[in-house]
Amino acid sequence: MVSRVIPVDDFDLVIFGATGDLAHRKILPGLFRRFVAGQIPQTSQIIGAARTDQDDQAFRDQAGKAISEFAGVKKNDPRLAQFLELLGYTPIDAKGEGGWKELKSRMRDGAVHAFYFSVAPSLFGDIAERLAGHGIADEDSRIVVEKPFGRDLESARALNATLAQHFQEQQIYRIDHYLGKETVQNLMAVRFANILFEPLWNAQYVDHIQITVAETVGVAGRGSYYDKSGAIRDMVQNHMMQLLCLIAMEPPYHFDPDAVRDEKLKVIRALEPVAPNDIVRGQYQPDGDEPGYIEDCENPDSRTESYVAMKVRISNWRWQGTPIYLRTGKKLRARTSEIAITFKEPPHSIFDDTGAPKANELVIRLQPNEGMNLKVMIKEPGPGGMRLVQVPLDMSFADALGAEGQDMPDAYERLIMDVIRGNQTLFMRGDEVEAAWAWTDPIINAWEDSKQAPEPYDAGSSGPDEALRLMHRDNRRWREIRS
Ligand code: NAP
Repeated sequence: MVSRVIPVDDFDLVIFGATGDLAHRKILPGLFRRFVAGQIPQTSQIIGAARTDQDDQAFRDQAGKAISEFAGVKKNDPRLAQFLELLGYTPIDAKGEGGWKELKSRMRDGAVHAFYFSVAPSLFGDIAERLAGHGIADEDSRIVVEKPFGRDLESARALNATLAQHFQEQQIYRIDHYLGKETVQNLMAVRFANILFEPLWNAQYVDHIQITVAETVGVAGRGSYYDKSGAIRDMVQNHMMQLLCLIAMEPPYHFDPDAVRDEKLKVIRALEPVAPNDIVRGQYQPDGDEPGYIEDCENPDSRTESYVAMKVRISNWRWQGTPIYLRTGKKLRARTSEIAITFKEPPHSIFDDTGAPKANELVIRLQPNEGMNLKVMIKEPGPGGMRLVQVPLDMSFADALGAEGQDMPDAYERLIMDVIRGNQTLFMRGDEVEAAWAWTDPIINAWEDSKQAPEPYDAGSSGPDEALRLMHRDNRRWREIRS
């Protein structure tokens, strides 16, 4: 398969927070890879901005180190030197007035202007105001904002209102990097570019759906930050909600940003409130010398969940009666993210008991090894009568796409290029984010009002026993967590 890289228009991208972790680990390495792929015009500019007082060359050295570490490229690779020539730096304190004039003088007429807010959300308002006030951003500029987008409905509304003072919705790109993953976009291709699945994609044929995002790491090192958030705010309200929307939404009339986001919004609005007995929260326990959640977050009274499992219902014609089970947690058995759609069993078996057909299952793997796996029944080969066996039709994208598949762009690469192209399809709209908080807030508030303690679970396990019971109660079982 031949790779098709379509270069984007010439651009000036300003990264606020260019000296920070996200810029070093994701944004700059991602831009470098797109440059190597030939997607970024040689004339483009990438301008770092943060408080650190340094010049262009010092920033290039810093960026070069980060890129060689996180993009796995040798420091003396000539392509790295070429890329670093696109970089510049302007010291700016988002809360001060210095540096903005210099920044303005660097921006070129005729280039796409994008501003990446890779800083704490408390600075979004300051930056937006000054970009507008100094005449650096105009009605064609784009801004990119990072998660977390608020910590509840009220703060998300306030953040939207702040940005809306200076930018139109069509200019605001709210990043959820899950939407940039190849498999997540493939979910839409599989659903809406094939006739095969869509007729079965409803409560009549789907028994249930499981969405799992499991991590092996704990919260050590960022425990005090995480303790104010927890798994629901950190994972469910954004990433898992986006996956759920793409699975459950109706076909949009066109693959167009607002058409797709309108359909996602309808799903969020159709979510039923989650009953207290349909949700389980957990905290990982100490494991030998390894600290537990309480030690990692340094808060002995913490009731914040490092694990959550819940049963979600969508109240609409398509999904009435098909539960969706979500689970996510830290320090679990393996690092994996997947969506599993379990279809109903055939209504009648013509085979004897030993060969009864099992339910088909479609598993969409986000990590590791992005790909899909469809479990189907076949006859066990060889003589000896009609024995049925379930086999996977496995499609790893890396294998299926050959060399191109080995080099699939990271989510950030794809999303940043979409910003330059001006395509908002894979970004969250303001009303979507607010609707997601409107559904999540009562779940969080009910927990805060309760006196319940989180369920303990062992590090390296599949989560608390109570979460198993959530499934067993419905005569179902979680898929095994494995990488
Ligand atoms: P970080 O490592 O703490 O970096 C923060 C950046 O902001 C630094 O470059 C810092 O540089 C700059 N900064 C701080 N105060 C400033 C000010 N007053 N004016 C101008 N610049 C200022 O944070 P991060 O991990 O890169 O995260 C950045 C944003 O992305 C946050 O909103 C975070 O929630 C989000 N995010 C991060 C990740 C991740 O993997 N890191 C993932 C998802 C979302 P100076 O000190 O030089 O000013």
